Amino acid sequence: MTARLLSVDDEIQLIAAGTAAAPGSTASTCAPELAEGPWVFDLQSPTYGPGASMADPLPAEAPRQGVLPEEYTAASKSELDTRIRRAKETLGDSVVVLGHFYQRDEVVQYADFVGDSFQLANAAKTRPDARAIVFCGVHFMAETADILAQPSQAVILPNLAAGCSMADMADIDSVEEAWAQLASVYGSEPDAEGRVPIIPVTYMNSSADLKGFCGRNGGIVCTSSNAATVLEWAFERGQRVLFFPDQHLGRNTAKAMGVPVERMPLWNPRKPLGGSTADELTDARVILWNGFCSVHKRFTVAQIERARAAHPDVRVIVHPECPMPVVDAADGAGSTDYIVKAIAAAPAGSTFAIGTEINLVQRLANQYPQHTIFCLDDVICPCSTMYRIHPGYLAWVLESLVDGVVLNQISVPASVAEPARVALERMLAARP
Ligand code: SF4
Repeated sequence: MTARLLSVDDEIQLIAAGTAAAPGSTASTCAPELAEGPWVFDLQSPTYGPGASMADPLPAEAPRQGVLPEEYTAASKSELDTRIRRAKETLGDSVVVLGHFYQRDEVVQYADFVGDSFQLANAAKTRPDARAIVFCGVHFMAETADILAQPSQAVILPNLAAGCSMADMADIDSVEEAWAQLASVYGSEPDAEGRVPIIPVTYMNSSADLKGFCGRNGGIVCTSSNAATVLEWAFERGQRVLFFPDQHLGRNTAKAMGVPVERMPLWNPRKPLGGSTADELTDARVILWNGFCSVHKRFTVAQIERARAAHPDVRVIVHPECPMPVVDAADGAGSTDYIVKAIAAAPAGSTFAIGTEINLVQRLANQYPQHTIFCLDDVICPCSTMYRIHPGYLAWVLESLVDGVVLNQISVPASVAEPARVALERMLAARP
């Protein structure tokens, strides 16, 4: 039986303190600063903070988190635990707490539902009586929950600085500009089969503005679970697709459907025509926005080769946000839900090397001690934006709710929410 691994938080605390971490740990982290409370870099750092997305600049208009009261920053783990449990008990069914797969265990333990962003938004719909939905995830997830929630429900993001660097790589102004440039190349006339020149497809990991853009322009939303189905939907209606913000999910999915890589130009929003010629854009089947996930781009083919050398029977599964050579070298690629199900269905004694966020991998390793499960990247490096949600922030928003105060509410204006809902509904209707 495999020894229980420490939580990612605990490992980082130990590494930062210079103490040996758990057996089997590589005892290294991408950023020992993560051992500090996120409130330290929320206030000081002009970027997303230490961690996987350290190099990604925080957009000027991104929400900023105010000062977390000292009673929470100074509270011990056990004090916060008592306060969170007491607040949840007091609030009862009037609150539902959602925890994304990539959240730290120290937060996930309080979640009523754990899943990916769309599973969680749907889970919240099973609790229409809850007056508050506390989303322990990142900003675009809380927006999607607000779009799908009852008008009377308040969606709360415990730390407003929990954004997503990938989602911020495609902003509405740049996408509108790209759309206008593409229209100048393609015009607006459908072909002989009635297909329009181009259909916009946005990954769930995008702002509500972009989902609204897709709703207004005949487009659709996809998740990492249904991207192929959504692309089929789009190809039935359009000659091409503009896919944003994640180039890797778009490329990996379209390639698996038989679209040649050379017919998938990358759109660089800083260059005229995205950096392609008009002929290249005319020949394109999928135009890929130049965005990526800072966490998943860390995975490499060399890591896969090392895992295979150390464990000849290993099954390598990676998330489709990983670069194409990594997906090609893996044994399987799929969403977090796919990864969870593949591990659950495996015979005892299986060995998995997983290419996704470390909190989920470590949790799965603890949940399935009959298997050997490890992260492809041997550096303890969580998604630093997800990591902004700390039990201190959760205690703060829950205790405020007990006092009748709604903090950090995420509200999508109706002018955006309505077309965004259209794009989400198209996605649900496209489900195979
Ligand atoms: S894991 Fe990647 S896509 Fe997900 S929230 Fe973090 S930066 Fe964004």
